[in-house]
Amino acid sequence: MKQLHRITHADESHWVGDGFPVRTLFSYNTPDAEVSPFLMLDYAGPAEFPAASKPKGVGMHPHRGFETVTILYQGEVEHHDTSGNGGLIGPGDVQWMTAAKGLLHEEMHSAAFTRQGGVFEAIQLWVNLPAKFKVVAPHYQPITSDRIPVVKLDDHGSIVRVIAGTYQGVKGPATTHTPINLWELHLLAGQSVELDFPENYTTLLFALKGSVTINNSATMNDAEIAFFERLGKTITLTALKDATLLVMNGEPIDEPIAGYGPFVMNTPEEIQQAIEDFNAGRFKS
Ligand code: MN
Repeated sequence: MKQLHRITHADESHWVGDGFPVRTLFSYNTPDAEVSPFLMLDYAGPAEFPAASKPKGVGMHPHRGFETVTILYQGEVEHHDTSGNGGLIGPGDVQWMTAAKGLLHEEMHSAAFTRQGGVFEAIQLWVNLPAKFKVVAPHYQPITSDRIPVVKLDDHGSIVRVIAGTYQGVKGPATTHTPINLWELHLLAGQSVELDFPENYTTLLFALKGSVTINNSATMNDAEIAFFERLGKTITLTALKDATLLVMNGEPIDEPIAGYGPFVMNTPEEIQQAIEDFNAGRFKS
């Protein structure tokens, strides 16, 4: 059995641009965070936006050295980068963006969501890349909801959506640069599931909503995150209220991290280079 290390939550929220009120559940700056290969988790909303004429969001900004994984729950995001790539991310969709050697993009509420208004809710997870992949060309995996396999857990409606890796032999559509399992778990009140993980992988559990007991002892509630020890293989969850959970599991990347805002590299010199490249306009694609 995997031991629970701790359950935490974000004390405050902050705005990313004017479109995303986020709670940061962990980041590469979190002291003592054994979260590798994951770097950061932002939970945006749920927040109500009135109908508007001008899209809210975050304008052109760079990323280098890692991947951003955007998972939409409510609302719609439109993204564009400076090399002409763009698209819509709607409820149930996942965008797995490999920034790698660097890109500039904007992430905005879509035109339709701006016009209609409504509740916005999304997750952005940052995934680190090993040094050898930090220098590859940027690319995207637009993963629409219909491509994400659903595994039934019981006859009551509990399911697992397999975004990356495998769940009981069912493979998710995302291609990853290191071994990662990313599952979205919907567990109905009263139902239990035993999850199996490779030993020595990082394991994090974020509750978007609901309430679950972990290994029949601690209870986690909505907007809380659970950190687990690397040893051990199984976690038992029982839902007290209908729960939606994001399960993040991956092989740690055993390399130094040097990070500065949207740049995450291995050394301070590479961060300096990223800042110089950005200031000199060398982030094109
Ligand atoms: Mn971004």
